[in-house]
Amino acid sequence: MSARVIVVEDEEDIATLMKHNLLAEGYSVEVCEDGVMALDAVRREVCDLMLLDVMLPRVDGKEVCRAIRRDYDFPIIMVSARSGEVDKVIGLEMGADDYITKPFSILELVARVRSALRRAAGEARGKDEILRAGNIVLDRARHEARVAGRVVDLRPKEFSLLEILLANKGRVLDRDSLLEKVWGEDEYIDRGTIDVHIRRLREKIEEDPGSPRYVLTVRGVGYKFGME
Ligand code: CA
Repeated sequence: MSARVIVVEDEEDIATLMKHNLLAEGYSVEVCEDGVMALDAVRREVCDLMLLDVMLPRVDGKEVCRAIRRDYDFPIIMVSARSGEVDKVIGLEMGADDYITKPFSILELVARVRSALRRAAGEARGKDEILRAGNIVLDRARHEARVAGRVVDLRPKEFSLLEILLANKGRVLDRDSLLEKVWGEDEYIDRGTIDVHIRRLREKIEEDPGSPRYVLTVRGVGYKFGME
């Protein structure tokens, strides 16, 4: 069954270009011209990935992303005309998985779609193993993390980060290794992205995110999961 991709883009030329190339890759594609249509489309039918323009009529891309993230886990790639770092960070904080700036090469766009879908599929398969530390339990098979018995809602990247840190408990992992393990071949993801995801992860699993007990920063190197 082909993956269903929703393209949310109000510029017709770009939407057509994306649609044409994604169809050629074998995906099923639906184009939405504004944020309201995008939210309707997601609720109407299963979505495997969304390409989401930031500047949209009615409801903008960031709001759409935030609304979707309350209920859905599929990968979202934000697409923006602006190259501002601030935009990118905001996009990731809203729960986007990746970010691409216009003008983009269609080959790069297709490659990112492919790798986001592959990562999502890999994460869904999981492994039959349970990792524990302190009051944290991570169930790979169920793709579920609990803190003190309570299920925490982690985004796919946050889950992968926690999984890798937990599997290497006490060991320092530098940003490059984390990039490689969590984001795979996407060399265009910058190191700041990791920090954004680490911050969100801490907010979800640490009692005091400002003074973390589990996800520790090792200055100048990277991160490690603190030993109990
Ligand atoms: Ca636009």
